[in-house]
Formats: sequence, C-alpha cells, structure tokens
Amino acid sequence: MTDLQSMIRSLLRPEVLALSAYHVPDSSGYVKLDAMENPYSWPDDMVDEWLARLREARPNRYPDPSCGRLKARLREAYGVPEAAGLLMGNGSDEIIQIILMALKGRDATVLAPEPTFVMYRQIASSLGLEFIGVPLRGEDFALDMPAMRAMIETHRPAVIFLAYPNNPTGNLFDSEDIAEILRIAPGLVVVDEAYTAYAGRSFMPRLAEFDNLLVMRTLSKLGLAGLRLGFMAGAKAWIDEFDKIRLPYNINTLTQISTEFALEKRKVLESQVESILRDRQHLYEELARLPGVHVYRSDANFILFRLLRHDADHVFRKLKDAGILIKNLHSSGGRLAGCLRVTVGTPEENQRFLTALAETLAS
Ligand code: PMP
Repeated sequence: MTDLQSMIRSLLRPEVLALSAYHVPDSSGYVKLDAMENPYSWPDDMVDEWLARLREARPNRYPDPSCGRLKARLREAYGVPEAAGLLMGNGSDEIIQIILMALKGRDATVLAPEPTFVMYRQIASSLGLEFIGVPLRGEDFALDMPAMRAMIETHRPAVIFLAYPNNPTGNLFDSEDIAEILRIAPGLVVVDEAYTAYAGRSFMPRLAEFDNLLVMRTLSKLGLAGLRLGFMAGAKAWIDEFDKIRLPYNINTLTQISTEFALEKRKVLESQVESILRDRQHLYEELARLPGVHVYRSDANFILFRLLRHDADHVFRKLKDAGILIKNLHSSGGRLAGCLRVTVGTPEENQRFLTALAETLAS
C-alpha cells in the first residue's frame, strides 16, 4: 500500500494529486433540481421517431470524425457565421479542456470573474496553469470593471472565460463590458453561452468583429444533457489549431444522430424553454415572498437565492430529507455564503420545492 502510494506520488503531477474529483451527488429518488437540466423529456411520438432514426447507427463503425452533417445543422440552427470554424466537444467541458491543453507553457494564465462555473478553475489547475479569479461586484454580481482592467493588465491572461449568463449567479454581464474586455485582452476571450436559450442574448453575431472571440455553446441545458454535445465557434485559424488536439471520434454516433434529430425537432425544445421561462418567473416571485430570502434575478434556467436569517446548510439538508435536491453553494463560502441554487423544474416540482422550503423556513 505504502509502495503504491509512493509510486503514485512519484509519477503524477502535484497539481493532479492536489485536486478533488468533481463531485456529483447521487440523485436517485430525488426531485432533481440541482444541475440545470431541462426537466422535460420528449413526447412519446418524438421518442418513437428518434428510436427509428437510431436504426441508422452502425455500432461496428467509427462515427463520422468531422461530424459533417451535425455541423451543418448546428450552423443553420444557431446562426454560426459562414466564415467561422466549429469545434465539437463531448460537452462544453471538453472544449474548455481542449483550449487550455493547447496553451503554450506553464506560465500561461487563465482568468475569470468569480464566482463562476467551477470547471474553468478546475481544468486550469489540473493542467498546472495559473488561474486568476476576479471577484464579481458584491451586490449584483456584475463585472467589476476596474478590477478586471487591472488584473488583465497585470497578468496578461492567455484566456479569459466569461459565462454569459453566469453560473451560479444567473445574470448576464453587461455586453459593453464584455466588448471592452475583448478589446483590451491580450489573448483569447471565451464567451460561454451555455444558458443562451434562456437569455436570448449572444455574441455569435459579433464573431467577425473580434478575432480573439470564441463563442462556446452546449445543448445540455436545452434538454440534451445525456447526449453530451458542446461546440465552439471562432476564427477558423484558431479552431483549426484546437482541432488538432481534439481526440478523433469524440462525438459518438448515437450523439451525432440524436442531436441532428433534436435540432430538426427544435420547435418542441423551444416550447419547453418557453414553459421554463414562465415557470422561472413564477418561482422567482414565490421565492421573493418568503421571509428572509433574497432572490437574484436570473437570465438562465436556475435561480440563486440567499438565506438572510437561516443556516443554508441546515435548509439544504432539510430539503434533501424532503426528497428535493438543489445545489448548496453556501459550502463553497466567500461571496456565496448563505446561497442556494435551484434549477427551474416542472410546475409540480417547483411547487414541491417551494412548499418544503417554506415549511423549513417556518420551523
Ligand atoms: N458552462 C457553464 C457556464 C455551465 O454552467 C456548464 C454546466 N454546468 C457547462 C459549461 C458545461 O456544460 P456541458 O459540459 O454539459 O456542455
């Protein structure tokens, strides 16, 4: 055992040894409102059509390595400019990893406002890259532009990640602030539009304006989380380089066929988004009525709220005991002290959550 431990320590990079694995709680049996999934599956007739389409799959053959057909559909569905290149990922997590793996040297710095999506820091750390987190403004989680300018100037980051809208805070940063960051950044700026379906704002149409802009998207939050498909659009010269380190066949055949199918049927997904947006408004209003709860406005499919008078760990546990799983951000400390995040579920799920929360706060 000791020999094994010393072998592990002698062979692996210290930054890997120092990491904790990304923890995903067991959610079986819970009302699952922790992971920003679309709560709706597909209607039965659409599932039948999908399964019929999957008959095209040839499991004995490798998938199309270039995802040719899928790329064409994505371009059309998301208005990717003709001149831009597209990189496909096994979720956008993989795209973040590909970008960071390609950076030159150990002294490359990665910067993002924080709190934000934890994988930017996690992947940078796993690769031994320096990560600079610039605190968002305390009261409204907007970009702190004087701090951003100063940190960009000092650290000259190779890559800046901006989640638009941001996770876990749910807000859209000011688009003029992002444009300024694009102008002053010495390196790449990745605008991560994971939640764009719920925000209706995008930097995709501005790709031609900035040759250091990469726009990253995922289909996870739109209802395809189980298929794992992310993509990134940007100047072809960048995408061609990143594509060299993408593993061949990273998008499997079932995902390619299923995503093409889902894009053909995207009216169904769009009507689910409309329901989620209506329910987000309702959930926001109901949360705002609860005593001792501060709710943050959201442009995504989840809502961040802060408990002003209750212990957030206790409330999180009580909700779990009641069969409802949300995300405890209080435990990550700092600016998120007292904060919990709930994904917008079906109306029934939202109601179960609200009832359990109101009971816990009253007890
Ligand atoms: N970006 C942001 C801002 C996210 O919140 C998430 C998922 N939580 C991702 C990217 C990753 O999504 P996926 O790997 O499922 O595409």
